[in-house]
Amino acid sequence: MKKIAVFPGSFDPITMGHYSIINRALPLFDEIIVAIGNNATKTYLYDLNQRRSWIEQCFSNQANIKVDMYAGLTVDYCEKVGAKYIIRGLRNTQDFEFEKAIAQMNRQLNDEIETVLLYTEPKYAEISSSIVRDIIRNKGNVSAFIPPAISI
Ligand code: ADP
Repeated sequence: MKKIAVFPGSFDPITMGHYSIINRALPLFDEIIVAIGNNATKTYLYDLNQRRSWIEQCFSNQANIKVDMYAGLTVDYCEKVGAKYIIRGLRNTQDFEFEKAIAQMNRQLNDEIETVLLYTEPKYAEISSSIVRDIIRNKGNVSAFIPPAISI
């Protein structure tokens, strides 16, 4: 059976932090689905199609990385696509507490799906989509913080 993992997130926009986590998780699975969540309570800087197109550009040469969008519970989406693993990234203690709560709740919702947490590479520990958005809004240069295949 194919080992499929879902990497869920907002990716508004995708950063070097996300890109590194996806590349490092790749050897562990047969396929990774980068799944852009559509959370009704969140407002985004970039629309779904733009976020999707940037992620696709980053992984255009990798057949085992798919990009998709979903609404609703992440565990329900995982079940729908046959994924038994959720990948998340950890930068600091705040991420740890936040990710722990999500992972434990997801386990209660569906205990057949494991959350796999990867620590960030230290050089990416300070990168967040929200800071990247702030730099963009203020007309700064974000090229060091986003994957080389895209330009914003
Ligand atoms: P969400 O809105 O679901 O938190 P994000 O797109 O902000 O979505 O993040 C998706 C995942 O990527 C989360 O697990 C987050 O902790 C992780 N992540 C974000 N930035 C980094 C980074 N710089 N290094 C490692 N992981 C990261």
